[in-house]
Amino acid sequence: MRNKVIAGNWKMNKDLGETEKLINDLKTALNFNLIGSKVIICPPFPSLALAAKLIEGSPLELGAQNMHTEDEGAFTGEVSPKMLKAAGCRYVIVGHSERRQYFSETNEFINKKARKALASGLIPIICVGESLDEREKNITDQIVSVQVKGCLSEISAADMEKVIIAYEPVWAIGTGKNATPQQAQDVHRLIRKLISQLYSWTVAERVTIQYGGSVKADNAADLLHQPDIDGALVGGACLKPDSFSAIIQAAALSTKK
Ligand code: PEP
Repeated sequence: MRNKVIAGNWKMNKDLGETEKLINDLKTALNFNLIGSKVIICPPFPSLALAAKLIEGSPLELGAQNMHTEDEGAFTGEVSPKMLKAAGCRYVIVGHSERRQYFSETNEFINKKARKALASGLIPIICVGESLDEREKNITDQIVSVQVKGCLSEISAADMEKVIIAYEPVWAIGTGKNATPQQAQDVHRLIRKLISQLYSWTVAERVTIQYGGSVKADNAADLLHQPDIDGALVGGACLKPDSFSAIIQAAALSTKK
């Protein structure tokens, strides 16, 4: 059985003082055994180094929300994988739908970021997912297939086993509308099948596929019990220690089953 991986995407929330409070409250709320689950927090760039210090000795791990494809240079406003590693990150989210939508990121660019992350010793959490219009037109499978194939281009099988894919239907992000466990499971199965075609079933069985989109304390257990849902990428609920900790507990309990 694959271990569950829960990641919290803080988005553009929490300054330094608020970061300290949220992490301390979260550490207090996590007063149970994680049973093999991984928990990653992804604060904004200015909070990363502080967060790395605060989580030392705790089960929490650190990720960033984005990165550039170069290590250094004239790219005003960007942050490199080398800087993220130095700040204490082990993970990086790439291709979040908000980056695709507001910053015009393409599958090709996201693939470049994912390859650079892997080459730099970071584990990319690659986000894919259809819009409401695409779901209503019944083209979810085609859209997600194109995204998965595009984002995984030229990633070796050995690297692929480390990659995390987050299936995040855009219509479910921050809207309070989550995919039903069956809708999510169907797309996760499709993604795993695609990986098996691009690599092998052995690789596909090892890849972590998270669901994201309005995951909350009260829907996490049903989603996480689906056979191909290996964790969650959580937005809004990760800013509330009790809610995030309840989601993490649901993951730990689903692993135990
Ligand atoms: C996200 O930002 O990746 C996300 C899933 O947000 P939310 O949980 O708020 O829908």
